Amino acid sequence: MPCWSCPRAVSAAEPETASGRPVTALDGVGERVASRLKALGIERELDLLFHLPLRYEDRTRITPLNRVRNGVTVQVEGQVVHQEIRFGRRRMLLATLADDSGQIILRFFRFYPSQQRLLKEGQYLRCFGEARFGPEGFELIHPQCQAFQPDRPLELPESLTPVYPTTQGLGQATLQRLVGDTVARLERAELSLEDPLAGTLGGPSLASALITVHGPAASDDLNALIEGDHPAVQRLALEELTAHHLALARLNRARARQRAPKLVDERRLVPALLAQLPFEPTGAQDRVMAEIAQDLARTRPMRRLVQGDVGSGKTVVAAAALVTAASSGRQAAIVAPTEILAEQHYQNLKPWLDALGLESVWLAGKVKGKARQAALEALKTSADIAIGTHALFQDAVAFRDLGLVIVDEQHRFGVHQRLALAAKGQRGQRLPHQLVMTATPIPRTLAMTAYAGLDISVIDELPPGRKPVTTVAASQQRREQVVERLRHALGQGRQAYWVCPLIEESEVLEAEAAETRSKELARVLPEFRVGLIHGRMKPVEKQAIMAEFSAGEIDLLVATTVIEVGVDVPNASVMIIENAERLGLSQLHQLRGRVGRGSDQASCVLLYKPPLGPMAEARLGVMRETTDGFLIAEKDLELRGPGEVLGTRQTGMLRFRVADLARDAELIEQVADVAAGLDAEAGETLIQRWIGAAEQFVDV
Ligand code: ADP
Ligand code: MG
Repeated sequence: MPCWSCPRAVSAAEPETASGRPVTALDGVGERVASRLKALGIERELDLLFHLPLRYEDRTRITPLNRVRNGVTVQVEGQVVHQEIRFGRRRMLLATLADDSGQIILRFFRFYPSQQRLLKEGQYLRCFGEARFGPEGFELIHPQCQAFQPDRPLELPESLTPVYPTTQGLGQATLQRLVGDTVARLERAELSLEDPLAGTLGGPSLASALITVHGPAASDDLNALIEGDHPAVQRLALEELTAHHLALARLNRARARQRAPKLVDERRLVPALLAQLPFEPTGAQDRVMAEIAQDLARTRPMRRLVQGDVGSGKTVVAAAALVTAASSGRQAAIVAPTEILAEQHYQNLKPWLDALGLESVWLAGKVKGKARQAALEALKTSADIAIGTHALFQDAVAFRDLGLVIVDEQHRFGVHQRLALAAKGQRGQRLPHQLVMTATPIPRTLAMTAYAGLDISVIDELPPGRKPVTTVAASQQRREQVVERLRHALGQGRQAYWVCPLIEESEVLEAEAAETRSKELARVLPEFRVGLIHGRMKPVEKQAIMAEFSAGEIDLLVATTVIEVGVDVPNASVMIIENAERLGLSQLHQLRGRVGRGSDQASCVLLYKPPLGPMAEARLGVMRETTDGFLIAEKDLELRGPGEVLGTRQTGMLRFRVADLARDAELIEQVADVAAGLDAEAGETLIQRWIGAAEQFVDV
């Protein structure tokens, strides 16, 4: 019997438990969906509310076909007046859709018989997609299509359609329905949310901010929502930033108790290391080495990030740190994300270390049998320095006395893995020092917060004598001319990369594309040796090819984006990147960094498929104008915003769902005060809500 006199008490008691329900309690969420949701960090009903849209689609209106514009996403309706299957280089399905005002082509490169039936002549369709101006007029490539009967028109939604970040095996529609249902329950007050910041800074309530963000009315200021200056977004950003502030403070309290071994260059090995090198360190290298030496000499674990553009000379800096640890009688490990990179480190470092009388050990997945036993034994006893891949993280690996861990190009690792290696050196409250090296140039403003909890050093100077890579953009229609220029360069004894990046979301197709291209290039350039490397090859095969290329036995290396990170072949001075319009700025920059490491004037050709959209044109323009990684990162930030720049690949960094470090500078200033006004319980609620089990704040 409900208590009519005290409705508040009843409704307050019920929703409390409701918001904590696991997602499996919801309609249509079985084990499979639940496991996909978990991959997105969604385990409770409440988490769905904080899974925020990436962007919105305006499906509230229909655009007449004569009002379609290039590069603009539209929703159109009409009748199929023609269908054909065309056999060209690839089989494709084409349908012509017509309304009273005009026509448009629907183009499908992959299609099922069911789609072919759906797009039959006479069918009425509603389609949604980005319009492109092609050789046969406007077209939609792979639009989403929904059939309908002319006497039963489809409804138009009143609010904008949110598009959520999702994961493989979880459809956008499922996610939209689950979040939508949860938001509806919040609207009907069947769910209640604790709102410790209610009234702070005068924003809307938490519930109303969430309702707006998940389903803005078409009349809502969409620009403000996307740009983030909408009060609803600001309200959520404030909470998120406060939660991060609190979590970081908690982490720092825990860290205050940690200890690390004091590492100093007792045997004066670092000067001996530097004396071996055929060059003088740059001022920036000297400065960063000094910063690291200072950290290592403390009894608090170092947690430092070294940012240095490709080719800035991070390896030497790492070597100095490794040698310092060994000089103190401790062990040090350096880990790279791929075998190619790890092996390159081994080859570079081993001669330097040997000359100092230090014992280095190589460990990667392919080290098996007796060699592996010997490596494991050495790590437990005599070895000074370990060089390898994530194989060093594995359980069977034990160190005698690990004092320093260096992770190179860490954006390829999850923080989990970095911590797993640190844990190997842990003894009670004692931890190894940790150094992370990245070639991803992150604008300084962003790095401070993105890598919260890490100290940052920047190698902001390239070794002398580097000439910036000359970069041009060329339409792929000029490929023959490009090949002729390439022939000329190869004829002068230069080496070149030809990169075929992912066009389809498939490694198999990417590999096929590279294979086709390498055959074709081998045919038109018969006087040169053409090699091929792609992600589907076994590590040993890749290594063999890279070794041949390094040794000059291959003139032209056709590659997928596997060469993106860290490969160093100084004689390679020409790079051609196909489909450059599809790549982001940072990826283009990383790729281009593979050339221009030797004394030759290097060049890079960005081949693109016309017509170029405005964003792609801007990106290629930036690449032509500058080779400065930080400047490129700033531009990337301007063009795409930090969410994208930090991306999902850089798992080591803090990611924000709503907050934008550049945009919300003003909020950031107020966060400390806001956080100070909360009691411990409210603080815990916010941390749970926004960060939950997020690995960023897990500490060993
Ligand atoms: P990255 O920062 O991309 O890892 P590397 O450490 O591989 O760069 O260095 C790139 C190249 O520059 C290597 O061939 C290295 O020997 C060389 N190098 C590093 N520091 C200097 C320096 N101070 N002067 C001249 N060459 C250097
Ligand atoms: Mg490197």
